[in-house]
Amino acid sequence: MKETRWIDLDEVLFETMNSLLDFHNNQINNISVTRNDITDYHLHKIQRLGLDIPSNIQIWDTFQTSKKVHDIKPVKWAKEKLEKLKAQGKGLISITGRSAIQKSWTYKGLENHYPGLISEVIFLNAYADLSSSKITEKTKWDICKEFWATIMVEDDMHYAQELADNWIKVYLLDKPWNAQYQNGMHQNIIKVSGRDKIPV
Ligand SMILES: [Mg+2]
Repeated sequence: MKETRWIDLDEVLFETMNSLLDFHNNQINNISVTRNDITDYHLHKIQRLGLDIPSNIQIWDTFQTSKKVHDIKPVKWAKEKLEKLKAQGKGLISITGRSAIQKSWTYKGLENHYPGLISEVIFLNAYADLSSSKITEKTKWDICKEFWATIMVEDDMHYAQELADNWIKVYLLDKPWNAQYQNGMHQNIIKVSGRDKIPV
């Protein structure tokens, strides 16, 4: 079986948060924020922003339905890394919390910045069902289990924790929203300062 690398999309392949903040002129709910203030990727969990889930979704929706989504920059070293993995014959599949309605601009962004590298994107439709306590109906772990995945590159602690608890080795890219995590806290989560620091 072809060995596959599983890769998150936002913040691992694309600098989405930078674009979101830029789009909103660094004002969320009339509060000034910088990237370092984003202590949780799920904005409604940052107390001082005073958001509930629907208003969080709206902040993302206004951005994701704007032309600005086409300007999201790629993450440094990600392309070089993917090219190397592909040259080694590895499969590259992305699992994202983005929803299916974002497919067209997601594929366009991948084609622009990572041409021919990602063979498949699995969309998990985060926050599609607000009556559920889960962020996504199918979790990243459900997908990894289904495909016998063993390694994932991630930035979001909520996903990383669940994967690592189920013996997936997670390379966690250092971001303001995972600052609470330090190496050694979980045997299956290895935090790295950049995409180029991942040994696989
Ligand atoms: Mg992410």
